[in-house]
Amino acid sequence: MTDRAGTAGRVVVVGAGHAGGTFAALLCQAGFSGEVVVFGDELDPPYHRPPLSKEFLSGPLEKWLREPAFYAEQGVALRLGERVVQIDRAAATVTSENGRTWSYDHLVLATGAASRWLDVPGADLDGVGMLRSLVDARVLRDRVRAAGSVAVVGGGYIGLEVAAAVRGNGTPATVIEREDRILARVASAELSAILARFHSERGTAVMTDSVVRRFDGEAGRLRAVVVTGPDGDERHVPCDVAVVGVGAVPRDKLARSARLTCDNGIVVDDGARTDDPRILAIGDVTSRPVRGVTGRMRLESIPSAVEQARQAVATVLGGPAVEPEVPWFWSDQFDLKLKIAGVLRGTFATVVRGDPGAGRFALFHHREGVLVAVETANAPADFMAGRRLLTAGRPVDPGRLADQRIGLRDLVTV
Ligand SMILES: Cc1cc2nc3c(=O)[nH]c(=O)nc-3n(C[C@H](O)[C@H](O)[C@H](O)COP(=O)(O)OP(=O)(O)OC[C@H]3O[C@@H](n4cnc5c(N)ncnc54)[C@H](O)[C@@H]3O)c2cc1C
Repeated sequence: MTDRAGTAGRVVVVGAGHAGGTFAALLCQAGFSGEVVVFGDELDPPYHRPPLSKEFLSGPLEKWLREPAFYAEQGVALRLGERVVQIDRAAATVTSENGRTWSYDHLVLATGAASRWLDVPGADLDGVGMLRSLVDARVLRDRVRAAGSVAVVGGGYIGLEVAAAVRGNGTPATVIEREDRILARVASAELSAILARFHSERGTAVMTDSVVRRFDGEAGRLRAVVVTGPDGDERHVPCDVAVVGVGAVPRDKLARSARLTCDNGIVVDDGARTDDPRILAIGDVTSRPVRGVTGRMRLESIPSAVEQARQAVATVLGGPAVEPEVPWFWSDQFDLKLKIAGVLRGTFATVVRGDPGAGRFALFHHREGVLVAVETANAPADFMAGRRLLTAGRPVDPGRLADQRIGLRDLVTV
């Protein structure tokens, strides 16, 4: 509990992204009558990032979290295009890049994450880019529409979504992955294999065990990605657009400069509290406790950002603690709607339900009958049942789980 819980005073939020925008909105809706100031270094009001990698060629990019007028109506001062450059913890102030200083009763750090850059020769060529912001997505959309072929460096969820959108547009796409399978860090080997096949069948060239050495160009324009393949041979992947999607790093520099404890992100508890009682942190920038996991993790997902925004509101207002959620997220690739819950670590056994070949399936991963994660595609009911089993934490009989004649509903209620 902070030392100044209450409904008045000034709350300063650094970062006008999903976590910061949600926090400000929920705080006002919960009856906070003090002042809320939100700084964002982007020019756009808080928006949804998921469509940027999914519908960026077909749908509108600007999907606002709340109508832009909402913030002024709620009395939230949205200071866009203004980066916070310093925190003075002793004085309880922040300073923005225009030199102005603001005092706070509570400070909420919601600075998110930044795409990891690939430091190889040619990365500055025209045509090589990343995808994190609306500005990046606008550039990428124009480039892909004009492209002859696209290379995606990194077979993570965002990279695969971009590749699916590119193929959906009829443009040749190659995914280049350093590990021996796509999604190596975040998905089960079973899901990786299913998705690799799914993408290959739709015309995407999926290269694993392939390390990018450099980008080759002509007159400043990208012409090829040069990789070392599994056999050690150098290969050229011709393309005029390359999207680098090799993970993200927490934007915790401000917090580290203020000597808040950081360890792959700002360390917080399940009330979004840092080790300074007046400072909270939420979203992708945090290293947080996760239900079902020993220690802390950094999650990069909308449900996690929203959960922590709710935690921070409860902490600021002195309300009851928020019940921890089983972590989950989603991804859309072609017509596959993937939903994943839980965390895959260590060893586990897997039960498959449904038909991966038909694009409708659920992978239940368990340790001696206790579910640790569920990965589903186009199977919303199985996902819901899986989440309920994960939340309950009770063991199920793997034989019954594998028996598709037994409805999951029966397993959940047993
Ligand atoms: C392309 C893409 C697709 C995604 N798809 C999915 C998906 O399908 N499902 C899912 O669950 N999640 C998805 N995510 C992840 C999800 O968008 C993030 O988890 C979420 O946006 C995190 O919210 P956040 O507020 O912590 O960070 P962000 O939304 O990144 O917001 C942080 C904001 O803080 C600003 N900022 C940083 N430092 C300062 C400073 N010093 N001063 C002022 N402002 C600052 C940043 O510019 C940024 O605007 C996707 C992410 C991307 C990039």
